[in-house]
Amino acid sequence: MADERTILDAVPDGLLIGGAWRTAARRFDVTDPSTGDVIKQVADGTPDDGLAALAAAHDAFPAWSRTPARERAELLRRAFDLLQERADDIALLMTLEMGKPLAESRAEVTYGGEFLRWFGEEAARIQGRYGANPEGTGRMIVTRHPVGPCYLITPWNFPLAMATRKIAPALAAGCTVVVKPASLTPLTTLAFAQLQLDAGLPAGVVNVVTTTSSGPVSEAIIGDPRLRKLSFTGSTEVGRSLLAQAADGVLRTSMELGGNAPFVVFEDADLDAAVDGAMAAKFRNIGQACTAANRFVVHRSVADEFARRVTERVDALRVGRGTEDGVTIGPLIDDRAVAKADELVRDAVDRGATLRTGGSTVDRPGTFYEATVLSDVPRESRLMREEIFGPVLAITPFDDEDEAVAVANGTEYGLVSYVYTRDLARGQRMIERLETGMLGLNVGVVSNAAAPFGGVKQSGLGREGGAEGIGEYLETRYTLTPDPFA
Ligand code: NAP
Repeated sequence: MADERTILDAVPDGLLIGGAWRTAARRFDVTDPSTGDVIKQVADGTPDDGLAALAAAHDAFPAWSRTPARERAELLRRAFDLLQERADDIALLMTLEMGKPLAESRAEVTYGGEFLRWFGEEAARIQGRYGANPEGTGRMIVTRHPVGPCYLITPWNFPLAMATRKIAPALAAGCTVVVKPASLTPLTTLAFAQLQLDAGLPAGVVNVVTTTSSGPVSEAIIGDPRLRKLSFTGSTEVGRSLLAQAADGVLRTSMELGGNAPFVVFEDADLDAAVDGAMAAKFRNIGQACTAANRFVVHRSVADEFARRVTERVDALRVGRGTEDGVTIGPLIDDRAVAKADELVRDAVDRGATLRTGGSTVDRPGTFYEATVLSDVPRESRLMREEIFGPVLAITPFDDEDEAVAVANGTEYGLVSYVYTRDLARGQRMIERLETGMLGLNVGVVSNAAAPFGGVKQSGLGREGGAEGIGEYLETRYTLTPDPFA
């Protein structure tokens, strides 16, 4: 693996528009959250740059959409192979700009790369149908077509995977894209864009605009009639406002929004497995995942033992810079995230929760917060209602199944839930009763490129990944012809 400076210097710092890297009048700083140091400056795109990127995507669309699916698939496959070759460098880059431990960045390269392989394979299976109408008077032909130029907005918490989860299905379907990464973590997307050019992707198929003006840049792109689709991953609040903007152009939209995942442990659960699952569901990505378990709803008869065991495990976690050996808890993304985690913990303690471990900031440079466990957290605490997005594990006890379901469903979010039980029928009941798009039944991580990822209620619209994922970038057209025998 190359050293940090060499890797950072190799990342393009411009706007990728029409296959060429362009400079911008202004630049902005990218910071390492584990030190507070500025590690690079990149172009600060304007609304005009956004429109230039959209024009490039629009111009590239006719040729790309007519490129045989097999060729599109092979380009995605080449990008997958190159990503494997550059895995260590991209992982380190992600750790430098986002803070997650290196082992987790490597895991994200594996996960994020799978979307390239999976959707490359899916590209060759875009099919329609042909058949007689029920009256026998005609033939119905159903065909599927790429929707057109797409605008993809990604968050900072999974800088690679959130990009490939959108770019790969869009390209596989025959769409061209403008990608806008979060200004906190633009470097991974820039490095990945260069990788795609190196893989042979034609000019204009993928365009990247980095900016600190995401509102105005997005407004210009979303308001332009050349855009056909908006796909967003981020907070429910921003998602709502983007949906309103997309309404004017009646754009196709996919929304992967916030979560407030319940992690339900029944009295018959395998407690060792539940503790393992809890550690993964809570502390992966330093708790900064939309799928992070937010509320641990544990049967009263095992709540104390569960709290004791997770506290023991949490005390063994090691806080530090993600590049250091053995570190399991990196920094939070910024000061605001630290302040929020601390506020939520104080609020719960003030309302009577028991602080088992952690509960404060860490005395070192960077934006660190201790891994924290709280038990007997009152239901009215902010921790139980708001997305924590930090390493804070909050336990609330319950007495019966109906109560567990009511607590789990008592939120406007509906992304994922986790359930630990050995009772098969109870597990099946949970599949039907829990109002979430995904369920981890005796597992603590559900993400997989082959699975339809997404939420219900205010956690989003549409699915990414799986056989469903490519459908988000295709539209269905129908043709009627007369009965050829009439
Ligand atoms: P965020 O503030 O909503 O930002 C997400 C993206 O939207 C970033 O690129 C951001 O760019 C951009 N953005 C912010 N304001 C915008 C505006 N007015 N118009 C257009 N774009 C705008 O969310 P975040 O804090 O980065 O990410 C955390 C949230 O994402 C959490 O709620 C988490 O649950 C959710 N998330 C959901 C999924 C899922 O699949 N459901 C996956 C990961 C994360 P700038 O920051 O540069 O302004």
